[in-house]
Amino acid sequence: MGVFSFDEVENYGQSNSGSFFQLKDDKDTAKVRFLYNTIDDVQGNVVHQVELPDGKKRYVNCLRAYNEPLDKCPLCQAQYKQLPKLFIRLYNEDAKEVQIWERGKTYFQKMASLAARYNPLCNTVVEIERNGKKGDQKTEYIFYPLDTTEFNLDDVEIPEVLGTLILDKTADEMNDFLQLGDFVDEGTVVQRPSTSEVTRRTPPSQGRRSF
Ligand SMILES: [Zn+2]
Repeated sequence: MGVFSFDEVENYGQSNSGSFFQLKDDKDTAKVRFLYNTIDDVQGNVVHQVELPDGKKRYVNCLRAYNEPLDKCPLCQAQYKQLPKLFIRLYNEDAKEVQIWERGKTYFQKMASLAARYNPLCNTVVEIERNGKKGDQKTEYIFYPLDTTEFNLDDVEIPEVLGTLILDKTADEMNDFLQLGDFVDEGTVVQRPSTSEVTRRTPPSQGRRSF
């Protein structure tokens, strides 16, 4: 029987994952640098969205690659949709801070087109313009590359999204969630078979994958 408490990082939630980039309304713009050298540095995250008892929606890292059987990931097995997401790290030149921009997987192609022309990508300041009113499902963002000046990625702290913005849970924890409707809080003692302790030591990077 194992005694179990969460790793601290999992309890910080969204507050520890940096701030979010957003353009709120039609024709809003911002100047940013994407914090990547090449498209190879850009990674997607496959996640599930779950609703917690307080009504908050959170992302949970999917444990299954697209070609693996459903039972690799309890949330897949419970028919939660796999959502391929990009959490783009950027430096907002206007706000002077690192931010995360959540996008769907279609933005991989846009990022690839940009990175193919501007190399290293982070050296180019890009103006992003929103085309679409608040709430418009067809909203698009247009990239206008501006000046190129050298930028050192080591000068900024690039936030990790897995374990903060995206909850990083084991299969056991997901099964608990499916049963209880919640993830168990830090300090709560859960009785488990001892094998779950081994599962929990899986390094957080394992569930991360690129497209
Ligand atoms: Zn899954």
